Amino acid sequence: MSIIYPERFHLAQLPTPIQPLTRLNASHNSDWNNPIWIKRDDLTGCATSGNKVRKLEYTLHEAKQQGADVIITCGGVQSNHARATSVLGAQLGFKVHLLLRGEEEELTHTGNHLLDVLCGAEIDCYSSQHFLSEFETILAGVKSHYEEQGLKPFFIPVGASDATGVWAYIQACEEIKQHCEKEQTYFDHIVCAAGSGGTLAGLTIGAKLHDLHTKAGLNTKVWGINVCDNAAYFEKKALQDIIDWKQKYQMDVDSDDVAIRVIDGYVGSGYAQAEQTVFDTIKQLARQEGVILDPIYTGKAFNGLLQEIARQRFPEGESILFIHTGGIFSLLSNNSQYQAGLTD
Ligand SMILES: *Cc1c(COP(=O)(O)O)cnc(C)c1O
Repeated sequence: MSIIYPERFHLAQLPTPIQPLTRLNASHNSDWNNPIWIKRDDLTGCATSGNKVRKLEYTLHEAKQQGADVIITCGGVQSNHARATSVLGAQLGFKVHLLLRGEEEELTHTGNHLLDVLCGAEIDCYSSQHFLSEFETILAGVKSHYEEQGLKPFFIPVGASDATGVWAYIQACEEIKQHCEKEQTYFDHIVCAAGSGGTLAGLTIGAKLHDLHTKAGLNTKVWGINVCDNAAYFEKKALQDIIDWKQKYQMDVDSDDVAIRVIDGYVGSGYAQAEQTVFDTIKQLARQEGVILDPIYTGKAFNGLLQEIARQRFPEGESILFIHTGGIFSLLSNNSQYQAGLTD
């Protein structure tokens, strides 16, 4: 199907490679047979590494079209989305104002936060409770602060997961389709981490639009492994993003039969908290493949994926494409839990 995409900035290095995890797959061959491939969206850029740059190509273009001068967005103190926005804002000439959730002492000038500061983002930090209860008031205050100076602010929701951001992984599905056609290959499943839901939403509707299918002609199944909240939350959120996208862009696509698939059970003790098993998975992938996962998203999701494979969720022989959504800078933040878990 030929899809008319909205205009966007070209900011990411695309298409990203799709590679088999050869040594990992070989080492598991006697226990299970679900070959894993990864799509290297950690290679979308250097300082812009990860999935958010794909979404921001569309979102920041929309901001420019609306004549915005200032981008306001939000996230945790080690937010990859906030960092990508800071870097791209500098590149495109927007002022960036970040509303970060966390404690002041977590602003360590390391990892993503260092890059936010380096790229000149304005940063306000709020405790989780204050952030949750007062967000609308805080945002309205920051917006009017800029409006009073005659500037036009543009707000991007957490993770750039909204109607606009859905385009990012519809387009990634087009890359997957082209790879499959060129290599005469098929994926039975696509798996990603779900944090704000936009990647899952885009992949789910994108797989349908681009008719991603298995060798037998069945639809490729898309799964999100949630790293916060629960399955019910992401089923609702991702579907809502798709509905909003359909409405905003007048897309004539049937979404009634769209199934949002979420694998719950791997959040552990909370968002950005990782158990030793997650650190062990990160170490394994680093040592076996030279692929660096992160403790907040990709390490947690990949650890969940390995456990689900061991529990035989995926039928024997079926292949899996894991989307490596980035996250390396949080690994490099000054966090004693991560440092202890990742070294031995
Ligand atoms: C934001 C993020 C995710 C989650 O993607 P969503 O579209 O927000 O669900 C996964 N991995 C990394 C590294 C991220 O920064």
